[in-house]
Amino acid sequence: MIGCNRNSLHVAVLCLLAAFSPTLAFAKHASPPQDFLRANMNASIDPGKDFFDYANGGWLARHPIPASESSWGIGNVVEDQLRVSLRGINEKAANTNNPPGSDQQKIGDFWTTAMDAAKADKLGVHPLDAELARIDAANNERDVLDIAFGFLPIGVEAFFGADIHQDEKNSGAMAIHLGQGGLGLPERDFYFNPEKGVAHIREEYVAHIGRTLVLLGRDPQQASDAAAKVMAFETELAKASRKLEDLRDPQKNYNKMTLQDLTAHTPSIDWNARLAAMDLHPDSVVVGQPEFLAALEKLLKQTPVSVLRDYLRYHLADSYAEYLSQAFDQEHFRFSGQVLNGQKEQRARWKRVLDNEGNAMGMVLGKIFVQEYFPAAAKKRYVALVEAIRTAYGERIARLDWMSAETKAKAQQKLAAVTPKVGYPDKWKDYSALVIGKDSYAQNMMNAARWRFNDAISKYGKPVDRSEWDMTPQTYNAYYNPSNNEIVLPAAIFTVPGVPDAQVDDAVVYGYAAAGTIGHEITHGFDDEGRQFDAAGNLTNWWTADDAKKFQQHAQVMVDEFNAYEPLPGLHINGKASLGENIADYGGLLLGLGAFKKTEQYKKGGKIGGLTPLQRYFLGYAMGWMSQQREEQLRSRLLADVHAPAKWRVLGPLSNIREFYQAFGIKPGQPMWRAEADRVRIW
Ligand SMILES: [Zn+2]
Repeated sequence: MIGCNRNSLHVAVLCLLAAFSPTLAFAKHASPPQDFLRANMNASIDPGKDFFDYANGGWLARHPIPASESSWGIGNVVEDQLRVSLRGINEKAANTNNPPGSDQQKIGDFWTTAMDAAKADKLGVHPLDAELARIDAANNERDVLDIAFGFLPIGVEAFFGADIHQDEKNSGAMAIHLGQGGLGLPERDFYFNPEKGVAHIREEYVAHIGRTLVLLGRDPQQASDAAAKVMAFETELAKASRKLEDLRDPQKNYNKMTLQDLTAHTPSIDWNARLAAMDLHPDSVVVGQPEFLAALEKLLKQTPVSVLRDYLRYHLADSYAEYLSQAFDQEHFRFSGQVLNGQKEQRARWKRVLDNEGNAMGMVLGKIFVQEYFPAAAKKRYVALVEAIRTAYGERIARLDWMSAETKAKAQQKLAAVTPKVGYPDKWKDYSALVIGKDSYAQNMMNAARWRFNDAISKYGKPVDRSEWDMTPQTYNAYYNPSNNEIVLPAAIFTVPGVPDAQVDDAVVYGYAAAGTIGHEITHGFDDEGRQFDAAGNLTNWWTADDAKKFQQHAQVMVDEFNAYEPLPGLHINGKASLGENIADYGGLLLGLGAFKKTEQYKKGGKIGGLTPLQRYFLGYAMGWMSQQREEQLRSRLLADVHAPAKWRVLGPLSNIREFYQAFGIKPGQPMWRAEADRVRIW
């Protein structure tokens, strides 16, 4: 899926749309002591020198990263507010007598069980006993594959990736997707990058695997030897994996194969039988990276079964560590929280429980959340904003001097067909088959994983339900799904804690909401990847050869710009991997601007807080990225995230926009300056 997903490092944080923190708010009845945008700024910085620090430096200096966090910014403040609301919903459910099987019973029992740390300690690793016993009994490659396939329903990835989602070339049907996967580090490059911080992560990773095996009962010396062998195995998997930027070519990562062809390709894996065991009987599957599966098959033969058993033990235990005893939980935190992300201490248990509950059964909570926190008026307001952006985009496409009339007509058709989903789903998913009880936190998470797995299997072979949402309404994020040609904007992304909507001027609303989220998502349909899908969501070429070539030439300017940024010594931004997101940020800004120019505030031109409407528009956009992160997280994201770090999501796109130069009087020779001929011009 193109667009935004912030749950894992694979697709990490994006589309952090700005909202206002309570500390930005001014009291409703007093006259504002200071304009909220002004309060964020560090006016001692020249905007032409570093616009990010100029716009956000004041707030960032006053809000250092808390010990329990790897980053801190406006998005974290909003999420903290959301957690308070969600905690209330959970506590209410836990303190009520609910009919068995009801949503309230599930929420209440999940909360009560997950919050019971003493119970988790008492149970230790026992919730995983059955799975661990199966691993112990595995004696050959076939047995090992049995385990890996058996992991799929409980949400543990081993050896390869597997998923069911829409067929890229036939968006009306679901397809089984197979491809690279099975790595314990967040991305392939972690296994090879020579930078010293990344080398340190590798050392720590081996130590972490070893300690996890000790927790599973292994002698420390043996565990340490075993960990090194697991690392060597994973390094071979990584060698066979494509690079992050090479995963962004939808044509090259779409290889439809019959099961016969696939089995011939990997002779010791009988895909027909494997899928049939899951009640799947496809004629063909979509293989992302056929060469990976071939390499995996060879590797499984060459690697001693004892190493493969340890690999499986580690991945099972680490996937469930957070729901087990403190010893497992803390070992998981030591690596994932501290080493990879630089957290000094763990987040409070109740916050982590809510985050995991969101993954397990988020829509059950979402249904209650929106009733209380997303009024119909808010939905109406943002639906209207989507249409303002769509109109601005249509006008912009019509004016482009590099695109032919033929491609323009198709682009307009695709734009007109974009479906906006705003706030929450029209139809709620049926969770009646999900069983949540009081046995253990881990068991509830396992039940939820099985429910998701069965839900995915049940969709196969049926017409696609295009009304579905892949994010919950309480998620502070948004996405574009090319197969449905839709933008999905959860209710939480519009949260404005502390500041009533009426006090937020249009310039700011258009800068951070219209540009930073809605415009960003809608242009994903036309970025280097999204443009390869048509109005009906099918991967097919609708561009003339000449227009496609021109697009690529314009896009290359963006690739080069971002490749030149070096946030950490020795680690540059990956311009090619982050291209789609950078085009979306840049495009979103232009669309927001087009729509903003039609507002009264822009036309009248009056100042607020001493700032012109245009200045407030760009400052509003920058506020959406008002965030700072620890070096550890920055390093991990530079390797694994297709989004540039927050600061460069401001510096990069703005340096290509003429109105930005005018608004702040940026001069030649200043760091923010680019000569006009060097600027990106796609939209
Ligand atoms: Zn995006």
